[in-house]
Amino acid sequence: MTGKTVRVRFAPSPTGSLHVGNARTALINWLYARHHGGEMLLRMDDTDAERSTKEFELGIIEDLKWFGLDWDDFARQSTRQERYDAATERLKASGRLYPCYETQEELDLKRKILLGQGKPPVYDRAALDLSADEQAAFVQQGRTPHWRFRLLDEPVEWDDLGRGHVHFEPGHLSDPVLVREDGRPLYTLSSVVDDGEMFITHVMRGEDHVVNTAVQVQLFQALGYDVPAFAHMPLMVGADGKALSKRIGSLGLAEIRAEGTEAVALAAYLAHLGTAIAPDGSEGMADLARNFDISGFGRAGPRYDPAELDTLNAKVIHHMSFDTVKGRLAEAGLTEADEAFWTVIHGNIARISDATYWWEVCNGKIDPAIEDEDRDFLAQAAEALPDTPYDETTWKTWTGALKDSTGRKGKQLFLPLRRALTGRDNGPELRDLLPLIGKERAETRLRG
Ligand code: GLU
Repeated sequence: MTGKTVRVRFAPSPTGSLHVGNARTALINWLYARHHGGEMLLRMDDTDAERSTKEFELGIIEDLKWFGLDWDDFARQSTRQERYDAATERLKASGRLYPCYETQEELDLKRKILLGQGKPPVYDRAALDLSADEQAAFVQQGRTPHWRFRLLDEPVEWDDLGRGHVHFEPGHLSDPVLVREDGRPLYTLSSVVDDGEMFITHVMRGEDHVVNTAVQVQLFQALGYDVPAFAHMPLMVGADGKALSKRIGSLGLAEIRAEGTEAVALAAYLAHLGTAIAPDGSEGMADLARNFDISGFGRAGPRYDPAELDTLNAKVIHHMSFDTVKGRLAEAGLTEADEAFWTVIHGNIARISDATYWWEVCNGKIDPAIEDEDRDFLAQAAEALPDTPYDETTWKTWTGALKDSTGRKGKQLFLPLRRALTGRDNGPELRDLLPLIGKERAETRLRG
């Protein structure tokens, strides 16, 4: 490190909603910045005016806030056209940007020919050889140029925080188009201008951007900006080992949230995915940031497994104190839930919304599950219910007496009671639930 304040950015395009892959990139940037006492910029890459919308932008911001991320600075590319124009002029002046007149069809044809010859489809720089007259003739025909950046014929190398040493040979890369016919910049340019002018020290993104980086390194240099450090993270794959689908579906952050996943569970899961460390569900965002180590990620694409996330979600909930969860319970409609209730149920729920069922068990109405063959036994049990007040010894006293009077024991004794009292086969300890259910409700349920 050079002693400069770490400054990272997350740069989504507001042309869709955030999915878990974007969320992981955002999180890694945030964790890196917070770990190093640095800053995070949120940048909307909204130069694609047709596809970018305000709704997507607002949705992304809402999702990031829900996720527990914050940022120190905010920018929108659509407001920075003049900066891109200025950079374009600098590149033209230094001879690194040249006009090209090929149509898309002509370019496609060139590509096809090269591929047919078994060669990489690298742009042949034909436009560099155009004379002034030839250029004028194209303009005469009504063609407007797009502009390409002339790469230097030298290798591009960097030490990547995600991939180790990266090396690109000259000649394997096409001179990238930086400016369209209509004068609008392409991402390759706008991103470098922003990263350069906003003093970004570390660019952390998916490994699908490695080739962009190879040309962007030369662009940073050509524009006189400091070249940032790069981290290209292997992309997550699905549980089937295949690339995560681009279609949002169940991978959307909003959907994951709606399914009852806690933001901090998702953060802990994604912060450790692809590392040798397994989170235990007790980690808060500050812990994740303090312990974050970018060198801990392996090189292979880690598997995103919703089942593992669910398991961690349950652990996170088990670790939640009543104070932390109070507001969330209220959001789920349980405004009267108290610490005693939470203490009894929190070890047995996988998502906060599950608490509403146990609230009904303790305070409302449920359908007791009763087998016909157990009816007599349950009627006997109702008869034998001890007098109030109930505490955590009541269950033992009651079931002890029932065991003696009926000869039932183990599962035969306990399961029908559990099913009648809670409607389910599994759940919190009945010893703890019974005092919350109370005698009256218990009796009604036992009698079916
Ligand atoms: N808007 C770009 C994307 O979403 C940003 C990539 C980058 O981080 O440079 O892919």
